[in-house]
Amino acid sequence: KKVILSGIQPSGDLTIGNYLGAIKNWVSLQDDYDSYYCVVDLHALTVRQNPAELRARTLKNIAIYLASGLDPAKNTIFIQSHVPAHSEAAWLLNCFCYMGELSRMTQFKDKSQKVGESVSAGLFTYPVLMAADILLYNTDLVPVGSDQKQHIELARDLAIRFNNLYSPTFKVPDAYIGNVGARIMDLQEPQKKMSKSSENPNSYILIMDPPDVIRKKISRAVTDDIGVVRFSEEQPGISNLISILGAITGEKPQEIEKKYEGIGYAQFKSDVAEAIVEELSPVQEKVKQLLEDKPYMESVYKNGAEKASYVANKTLRKMQKKLGLIPR
Ligand code: ATP
Ligand code: MG
Repeated sequence: KKVILSGIQPSGDLTIGNYLGAIKNWVSLQDDYDSYYCVVDLHALTVRQNPAELRARTLKNIAIYLASGLDPAKNTIFIQSHVPAHSEAAWLLNCFCYMGELSRMTQFKDKSQKVGESVSAGLFTYPVLMAADILLYNTDLVPVGSDQKQHIELARDLAIRFNNLYSPTFKVPDAYIGNVGARIMDLQEPQKKMSKSSENPNSYILIMDPPDVIRKKISRAVTDDIGVVRFSEEQPGISNLISILGAITGEKPQEIEKKYEGIGYAQFKSDVAEAIVEELSPVQEKVKQLLEDKPYMESVYKNGAEKASYVANKTLRKMQKKLGLIPR
């Protein structure tokens, strides 16, 4: 079986961007691949986090993975910091990554602008840790939203570089970008991608948002005065709502356009909101139940860390040996 790895940072509550762009695809892949899904808590530390909130969100993310339908019997579900090989491999790979490569990462440019003066070195080298996450598991495919494409490219480059300098060590991974939901946009500024770390709560819908909040946020979503439900560049707001609806119902943009011929934005928005509410309600219910069941949650992520460590440590030992580090 081919190997898949992906993760989400507990840097904020998860949005429908994370759900439609990542988690929903993961669930559809779980029968056909050997999959590793982690909560990448070390990545979240690249910007300042409140410790209590980080802890709560990490557990909540695990609960969301499970509630969305990821089966812990079929997938290895774990917390990144529970597998120290990630940090160790990241250091080794750091010594093979060029400053120039990291400076070109558009996510770094965006995020460093936001934090201003206090840009941490961690934020700069974050893509190297992500490369370690991926390469440790001999990953074939990395299912992500399209914003992560550049980071996967870097992981490929590092793998190829290391393989050429020493001997074949890493599998060279490919990005797997689903065609629906790959890029859900900000509801207030539809030129930007929706992000859980955005300051404006009206810009995103959280997986855990209650129905009335979802309705309110969708009704406030920025549209245009063209008045036609159409998927086009001149209508980024409406197009985004079409993408969201399509990612949930499985309909193509053209089908949705046809269905809403002659129908106004108010009705369209209300249908989009109901589709989201319907999709998320069962997930929310399940998350609440799971969070009450601490022993079960613990058994899932402990088990996951054990399985993940076994594979990750094997790759790490190979790296260390090839580099000239003395085995213990
Ligand atoms: P942050 O703002 O902290 O970076 P984020 O919302 O971008 O948070 P990440 O943890 O960086 O979330 O990404 C987790 C996964 O969700 C990745 O696969 C990413 O590509 C995907 N993803 C994030 N935002 C979107 C989006 N707007 N549309 C589709 N997929 C997305
Ligand atoms: Mg992100």
